[in-house]
Amino acid sequence: MSQHFDLIAIGGGSGGLAVAEKAAQLGRRVAVVETGKLGGTCVNAGCVPKKVMWYGANLAAAVADAPGYGIKVQSEGIDWSTLVAGRNRYVADINGYWDGYVERQGITRIQGQARFVDARTIAVGDDHYSADHIVIATGGRPIVPRMPGAELGITSDGFFALESQPKRVAIIGGGYIGVELAGVLRALGTEVTIVALEDRVLFLFDPMISETLAENMGADGIQMRLEFEVAALEKNADGLALVARDGERLGGFDTLLWAVGRTPNTRELNLEAAGVTMQPNGIIPVDAYQNTNVSGIYAIGDVIGREPLTPVAIAAGRRLAERLFGGKPDLKLDYDNVPTVVFAHPPIGKVGLTEPEAREHFGDTLTIYETSFTPMRYALNAHGPKTAMKLVCVGPEERVVGIHAIGDGVDEMMQGFGVAVKMGATKADLDSTVAIHPSSAEELVTLKEPVRRPGQGF
Ligand SMILES: Cc1cc2nc3c(=O)[nH]c(=O)nc-3n(C[C@H](O)[C@H](O)[C@H](O)COP(=O)(O)OP(=O)(O)OC[C@H]3O[C@@H](n4cnc5c(N)ncnc54)[C@H](O)[C@@H]3O)c2cc1C
Repeated sequence: MSQHFDLIAIGGGSGGLAVAEKAAQLGRRVAVVETGKLGGTCVNAGCVPKKVMWYGANLAAAVADAPGYGIKVQSEGIDWSTLVAGRNRYVADINGYWDGYVERQGITRIQGQARFVDARTIAVGDDHYSADHIVIATGGRPIVPRMPGAELGITSDGFFALESQPKRVAIIGGGYIGVELAGVLRALGTEVTIVALEDRVLFLFDPMISETLAENMGADGIQMRLEFEVAALEKNADGLALVARDGERLGGFDTLLWAVGRTPNTRELNLEAAGVTMQPNGIIPVDAYQNTNVSGIYAIGDVIGREPLTPVAIAAGRRLAERLFGGKPDLKLDYDNVPTVVFAHPPIGKVGLTEPEAREHFGDTLTIYETSFTPMRYALNAHGPKTAMKLVCVGPEERVVGIHAIGDGVDEMMQGFGVAVKMGATKADLDSTVAIHPSSAEELVTLKEPVRRPGQGF
């Protein structure tokens, strides 16, 4: 069988569905090829199931705080299977929604694994499909490094498949996925150790975030082993263990979880047949318009190795379809100032440059404002996670080029502040905004004294 389309999206995840939907709405013949369930990583093994678990973890933490407010409740523990069954039902509903939606939009759904035959044709099984425009949106999968015993560890995909709650977990990796899963598991009662190669967790984030997160995780009872280079995984009489390059051993775990990054799903695409260039790490380079090196073939989402986030993949897909079919030849996604949240405990939000990044770009023309406090929510509790916030401002006009925050509620705060940064807000704009009181958010518009760094102006 062979069929021709205006556009084929390879991958039915965030990016593929977005470009297909927009192209179909613009009246084009469109197909989506997907090996698994529609929705991709975000729906099936990413944002959505993760956030359901995060809500569950927050509720467990709130129950622990309730007696301080005079509410007489006591947790009888977590029924993992109820939580997981509910989460899976929710995910299945979203899969069902997409199945129906794609059909209603008149998009042809092709089930199976796509590989290029030439620059205009793909094969799925024995069938061939051609298109004027082919969009690679195949996302990525978790990395499992090669080393002895590596297969003893699960990945984030394995985390979502756990049928019972692990009791003692070592998470290898201090990036956002490691930190998020650590927070969820700990709040639900699992003993958690984070093992990281770097000297701090979330090392790509502003140092203030890493420090405050480490403090909060320590207070929650999460163990941290930093600068620990895992060389092997072992199974022993006392359970699973990690062995460091220097021979140090960390043992007694029932679950080891790899969270050391993701690799693009590009090697199976037979890109050579189409002449599409791929970097040695599998990333497909694109220009500002998502064009690969081959005319008519584009790449969006995690495969391009920039800002691997669902809304970024969606925005790139929609803009690409409008550029190709909507009469907007110059439309492209601006990858600067993408706001993002890490659903840690408490959550973290950021937009723009970290202080070290800004210092590299702008030198000593920076002005930094910082604050930290325990939110009022914990006023009647003995302990509460600390909130910390930072503004990174540039030049005499103090243009805000970075906002970083960790604390309850910052996940919902950051979207609005993202608009302000995108619009070029200055510190004076924030100062002239009347505060919402009492809230944590008001701190970001009432910061007074800049921070002086030793040896630097401000
Ligand atoms: C644990 C976790 C938590 C996350 N949390 C968040 C979050 O809170 N917020 C956020 O914004 N992002 C989050 N992300 C990232 C987000 O999921 C991705 O950035 C997003 O899904 C990328 O979209 P995509 O379209 O590039 O790829 P995907 O959504 O991964 O879709 C790619 C699809 O292509 C299919 N495919 C692959 N190869 C082929 C082939 N050859 N033929 C046919 N189909 C193929 C795959 O089956 C998959 O369905 C998270 C990711 C993980 C792993």
